[in-house]
Amino acid sequence: MKDQFGRGIEYLRISVTDRCNFRCVYCMPEHGLDWLPKTDILSYEEITEVVRQLAPLGLRRLRITGGEPTIRPELTSLIRMLKAIPDIEDIALSTNGVKLPELAAPLRAAGLDRVNISADSLRPERIAQIARRNFAFHPVDAARAASAAGLDPVKMNVVVMRGINDDEIEDFARLTLENPWHVRFIELMPVGDMANLTFEHVVPSDELLARISTIGALTPSAGPAKGNGPAAYHRLAGAAGTIGVITPMSHTYCGTCNRVRLTADGRLRTCLYGDHEVNLRDPLRAGDPLEPLFIKALAEKPKEHNLLQMQVGGLRALSQVGG
Ligand code: SAM
Ligand code: SF4
Repeated sequence: MKDQFGRGIEYLRISVTDRCNFRCVYCMPEHGLDWLPKTDILSYEEITEVVRQLAPLGLRRLRITGGEPTIRPELTSLIRMLKAIPDIEDIALSTNGVKLPELAAPLRAAGLDRVNISADSLRPERIAQIARRNFAFHPVDAARAASAAGLDPVKMNVVVMRGINDDEIEDFARLTLENPWHVRFIELMPVGDMANLTFEHVVPSDELLARISTIGALTPSAGPAKGNGPAAYHRLAGAAGTIGVITPMSHTYCGTCNRVRLTADGRLRTCLYGDHEVNLRDPLRAGDPLEPLFIKALAEKPKEHNLLQMQVGGLRALSQVGG
């Protein structure tokens, strides 16, 4: 299944909720957003039906995201239903990690393959400041729980903000020395409600890698066996894990984009940013086939995003589009 630019599309990111137990400063306002009414949100059966109809067209890999997917009740039952669909080879989860210590093992037992944990600080006070919620939780405990449950690979995603957490770049990089985790630094994107963040808070990846090189020799590396996505990987000498950089701002990777997104209310988005989305929920509820809509949406997948032309605050938050 190819789009108009010859990019194969085999990867669907599924948002199961737009709600969250965090209020990360770069993602959503402290008071929250206008949440979708519950009746607008796809049921687990409806999500499964969308995937069942798209799998024969080439869909192979899924990522469950949000909002915070682990706050939706019975997430394990969705994983079990998706895992039972022939052709689906890989199911990943993006989470802030708060519920992983209790959920990692049941999610793995239900068929979850791997996990990305968002972790913007290793210092308890700062974790609470960035998340603007305090659950007395630590991302390293979440990553350990994920590894112990057999989720593999375990990736940690760090949004780097100058003057806020960039003094922890080296600490995050050091985690890879002893642990087989993939720590990925993500450039801040000018989306959603960014509190007081501006382009000045963006730390370009070249600067980031130069700083990590001060703690040890960095060499380009293959990265995790599964789900390499848009990151470029490196390894510190002798390290068990790798260091990735994801650079939506300083280098775009739209040319190799292999993904589409399903929002919690059942809209298919072929690009993270751009107005183009196709309503799958209403046809699904009316019993109409989704295949023609999917083919049409792919034909219109934009060549690249236009984040660099955007004003800060001018775009929907990643939590609303299934980031
Ligand atoms: N709640 C889950 C989590 O935090 O992993 C899943 C949804 S969250 C929207 C997905 C990813 O988007 C997280 O890794 C988060 O750090 C990232 N993200 C959100 N807003 C961002 C922004 N303005 N710039 C860069 N990354 C952002
Ligand atoms: Fe919630 Fe994830 Fe957004 Fe943070 S980044 S507010 S955890 S959806």
